[in-house]
Amino acid sequence: MKDLKELVRPNIWSLKPYSSARDEYKGFEASVFLDANESPFNNPNNRYPDPLQIDLKKMISPIKGVPADNIFLGNGSDEAIDIIYRIFCTPSVDNVVAIEPTYGMYKVCADVNDVEYRKVLLDDSFQFSADRLLEACDEKTKVIFLCSPNNPTGNDLDAKEIKKLIETFQGIVIVDEAYSDFSSSESLLKKLDNYPNLIVLQTFSKAWGSAAIRLGMAFASAEIISIFSKVKYPYNINRLTQKEAREILSRNSDVESWVKTIIEERSVLIDKFSKLDCCIKVYPTDANFFLAKVSNATKIYSYLVNNGIIVRNRNNITLCNDCLRVTIGSRQENDALIESLSKYK
Ligand SMILES: *Cc1c(COP(=O)(O)O)cnc(C)c1O
Repeated sequence: MKDLKELVRPNIWSLKPYSSARDEYKGFEASVFLDANESPFNNPNNRYPDPLQIDLKKMISPIKGVPADNIFLGNGSDEAIDIIYRIFCTPSVDNVVAIEPTYGMYKVCADVNDVEYRKVLLDDSFQFSADRLLEACDEKTKVIFLCSPNNPTGNDLDAKEIKKLIETFQGIVIVDEAYSDFSSSESLLKKLDNYPNLIVLQTFSKAWGSAAIRLGMAFASAEIISIFSKVKYPYNINRLTQKEAREILSRNSDVESWVKTIIEERSVLIDKFSKLDCCIKVYPTDANFFLAKVSNATKIYSYLVNNGIIVRNRNNITLCNDCLRVTIGSRQENDALIESLSKYK
């Protein structure tokens, strides 16, 4: 890996962060707070939330096996993705490389930040080659985006190729593990110490059943995390989100059983879906959704909408011609889908 200083935008490297009232007061007990121009009324929402989310990170740390200094929390993973661009990519100078097809936010954030986004097509089994991604890079490539299990294809990326890419690329490698709870492959979190150029993304939006609270996680070296903390809005995680997140973290075992149920329902639903007349193929999946090739994705999508069932039409996505992306729901929801499609002609 290049020196971090060479990878970070010069203005960010020399940035002096905003110092909030709650940053400056730390530690010792106090009962009178006249430092932040807050209201004394409407407790507890009158107080600014903890800008460092210390209690929350203390709970996440043992569950993920990662020290608090290696954790950034954002307003969804989407905030982490945007901050990655703002840290590493000088607009209209630097570029990033990503697999294609993949999660749409990497490209949207590239466009917002005026950063060139280079796509490298996956192969027929939706796998990538480290060499082909590296060929797409030049000296202005700061970041490579991987997503495993990948969205919208559903499959894990090849672990050997991921390792090769991280070990060969001189810049930053992002591995988005939004769906890793549903996969039997090992998370890369255990390898963080070996890879100073790795950033792993996870989220509360999928397995943790908390998309509404908007909480995403980035895991990386303490040095990278400290730059994230400099760039983020001071109070990016509100008090209600921190409270709800602590609540769901204390129900860790419920979440494990939800994941188990979803994985069981996944095989039941895929089995039934594969037997439908309109189904051409269900692609292998390691996530809480599957991609399926059908006789006519756009027609079937509209038919389902008319029956009050929404799936994702991926027909216009590269390599996903006539494909629908279907989330694994409750047994009832899944049955409603099969029931409806069995009547489709
Ligand atoms: C759903 C999803 C996320 C989660 O984004 P949040 O902003 O945390 O809700 C991240 N990455 C991928 C690939 C996803 O599909």
